[in-house]
Amino acid sequence: MQLYSTKNKKSLVSLKEAVMKGLPDDNGLFMPENIQPLPDHFFKDITQMSFVEIAQTVVTHLIGEDIPTSALNQLVAEAFNFSVPLVPLNEKISVLELFHGPSLAFKDFGARFMARLMGYFNQAEKERLIILVATSGDTGGAVASGFFKTPGIEVVILYPSGKVSPLQEKQLTTLGHNITALEIDGTFDDCQAIVKKAFLDNELNNQLRLSSANSINIARLIPQSLYYFEAFKQLKIAGNTLPVVFSVPSGNFGNLTAGILAKKMGLPIEHMIAATNINDIVPNYLKTGQYEAKTSVRTISNAMDVGNPSNFARLKDLYQKASCNTCDMMGEDIKGFSFDDDQTRKAVKEIYDKFQYIMDPHGAVGYLATKEYQQAYPETASVILETAHPSKFIEDVEDILERKIEIPERLAKLASEPKSAIRMSTDYNEFRDWIKNYDF
Ligand SMILES: *Cc1c(COP(=O)(O)O)cnc(C)c1O
Repeated sequence: MQLYSTKNKKSLVSLKEAVMKGLPDDNGLFMPENIQPLPDHFFKDITQMSFVEIAQTVVTHLIGEDIPTSALNQLVAEAFNFSVPLVPLNEKISVLELFHGPSLAFKDFGARFMARLMGYFNQAEKERLIILVATSGDTGGAVASGFFKTPGIEVVILYPSGKVSPLQEKQLTTLGHNITALEIDGTFDDCQAIVKKAFLDNELNNQLRLSSANSINIARLIPQSLYYFEAFKQLKIAGNTLPVVFSVPSGNFGNLTAGILAKKMGLPIEHMIAATNINDIVPNYLKTGQYEAKTSVRTISNAMDVGNPSNFARLKDLYQKASCNTCDMMGEDIKGFSFDDDQTRKAVKEIYDKFQYIMDPHGAVGYLATKEYQQAYPETASVILETAHPSKFIEDVEDILERKIEIPERLAKLASEPKSAIRMSTDYNEFRDWIKNYDF
């Protein structure tokens, strides 16, 4: 597999280089050069396959030349060792639960796959690789658990003191082994500034092998295309004959872009629904043809509070044809809708009252978009991606539903585990001294 930069289609790199570097030097994003459809028999036989078998087939199809099949199959089986159930709400709407991984959010798919792929590519290196991550909460948990005990790789996570939820903090600070948490006396932006400085610090990079686990790494995008196939399979088993659409609660648009990759690989997707909160940059673009980045606004679906979605460059690239208008072409595949917090709260309540299903605020935005979409396209089977377990947003959900909700055992048990973090100021030199002398 070869990849180009969205800023320069001519300079191609290998999968290994794209994964280990994360970003091209020109600040574009890596994209697969050539995405071929899967063979017809795959879609015929798909109902006979487990999720892991589907994932192995799709991943081999996409990146099979880069890694021996047996190693790739093992890597995929280890990454996706949890279930991906599709739960029907009614005949035309179902929910794909992407929260059965260790951190209870869909980001586990990307983080677990990326960790194993980096571990594989790093095998031959003598010196250990140090992954630096700044987190405002969610990504850090998925990355920490994804890389936990990966041989040859150390992870250093910087998080803002007092600004992540208690359970999120426990996800970062209780693992130990190769995961080190730095509790920074500052904001998320301060954490990010330290990480950025470290990557630009030549002397430090001469001494240590540093890398990132950035959300725009192509190794996180590829695995997110896999569960679209799984949803299609489960709908087919249930006897669905309607055209299939996916409603994707979106922030940085990685998940939705991965769905477009699945479509390029031949999955019959009628439309993708871009569901956002009031951070509505992409729905606006689809409406007006103007891309206007904004300062993000805080909402109750806060993992989607993004004012300048990083994967938009990939979407634009996928629909770029010299003679056509990008926004029109994109609009044929993607329908955009946005909703405010009041509407989201009412939707959480409605879904519970109508279907006895507890949905988190992100999924609820997806539900609202599905309802609006189906007014125009009633004869469709819509799959809402439920991107996180409702207990990750327990305060809001309990408040809306006026009832207690259960925290899954694997998260609840963290509450009693001892926290281990190294406290640090926002001063870059303090971080620098620490990492240079730390005994990993
Ligand atoms: C990260 C996240 C999103 C947004 O996903 P993108 O790929 O950035 O669009 C949606 N919901 C939840 C719960 C998330 O954690």
